[in-house]
Amino acid sequence: MPDFRNLPSKLPTAKTSIFSVMSQLARKHNAIDLSQGFPNFDTDPKLKELVFNAMKEGYNQYPPMNGVPELREQISDKIEALYGVRYKVDSEITLTAGATGALYDAITAFVNKGDEVIVFKPAYDSYEPTIKSNGGKPVLVQMKGKDFKIDWQEVKEKINNRTKMLIINTPHNPSGTVFTKEDMQQLEALLKGTDIILLSDEVYEHIIFDAIEHQSASRFPGLAERAIVCSSFGKTFHNTGWKMGYCVAPEELMKEIWKIHELTAFCVNHPMQKAFAEYLKNPENYLNLGSFYQEKRDKFLKLLQGSKFTGIPAKGTYYQVLNYAEITTEKDTEFAERLTIEHHLASIPVSVFNFEQKDNKQLRFCFAKTDETLEKAAEILHKF
Ligand code: PMP
Ligand code: GLN
Repeated sequence: MPDFRNLPSKLPTAKTSIFSVMSQLARKHNAIDLSQGFPNFDTDPKLKELVFNAMKEGYNQYPPMNGVPELREQISDKIEALYGVRYKVDSEITLTAGATGALYDAITAFVNKGDEVIVFKPAYDSYEPTIKSNGGKPVLVQMKGKDFKIDWQEVKEKINNRTKMLIINTPHNPSGTVFTKEDMQQLEALLKGTDIILLSDEVYEHIIFDAIEHQSASRFPGLAERAIVCSSFGKTFHNTGWKMGYCVAPEELMKEIWKIHELTAFCVNHPMQKAFAEYLKNPENYLNLGSFYQEKRDKFLKLLQGSKFTGIPAKGTYYQVLNYAEITTEKDTEFAERLTIEHHLASIPVSVFNFEQKDNKQLRFCFAKTDETLEKAAEILHKF
């Protein structure tokens, strides 16, 4: 028998993702699950039918490595209509296994041993392990204050000749904040004259509220020329379990991303790509998403009025961060656990995304849920 107990781990400090931990705990204790980010309502039946039709029509073998041409065409049209820049259909767009696939491919393609990558905290949990597994070093910058602002002077001080990449995420998970046009212009000025690659995680690009415009890196020429922009159909079309996403980038960068994409997945789900190519023809299928989720956000916050949970309304994403300092001094990880086990409501403790796991007494609640679920959750939160 081989003995694997002492095998050196490639990621010795990586733990099971908080999303798996909290979802499992929610299932175990039969809790309302506002932890992991996914809707508890179904994707559009029309979209399911399109997938089924594509299967029946025989699109069941490998599609082209970078995706089916008609879907790449639709993506290119959509970005041009929204952000005013055209990506080349044949060489600058790639369909990936969720945005996770795109993030992994992009980081792995460029980050080598000793390279530094600037990451803003709190940060989505896949960035740092992927950087480290490639021998890179995450350089962390904490977003500041209740509204999670970036101190661009601090970013400037962290940039040096080892900085290979900088990762941004807007609208931002978990805080629900968004980058403003000024933020993007500051970043554009900072990166000018450098060879730093920008990885822009824009999976919530269509989930943005209060008539705020999404500031895609694609809109800014000084960013677009160095940016890999990632998006997720799972978030936009309520089907996170399909694991479909894409990235766009200038040709020279995409050529390198393909080398990794060919190793990790080679290509992704053919019938689903056919279906999305058809479905994207109707912009209403994604342009109404902001108002749809804004209603959910408003409903959730209204239901919480008069409770001891407080927070700045999310400007984007389907997460609402709530402070509970008025209720208890417990650590957020402990409180989240107790809330799940004793009160049957699961959330995500924000500290796990923070620099040095700083505990600001904040929990993240996913409001991509039916009104009935949100009502039940609010009832529980009012008990405190
Ligand atoms: N980035 C962020 C910020 C996310 O919240 C998520 C989770 N959906 C992803 C990337 C991964 O997206 P996907 O499910 O398409 O892999
Ligand atoms: N993006 C989702 C969230 O933030 C989770 C995705 C995952 O489970 N890795 O909740």
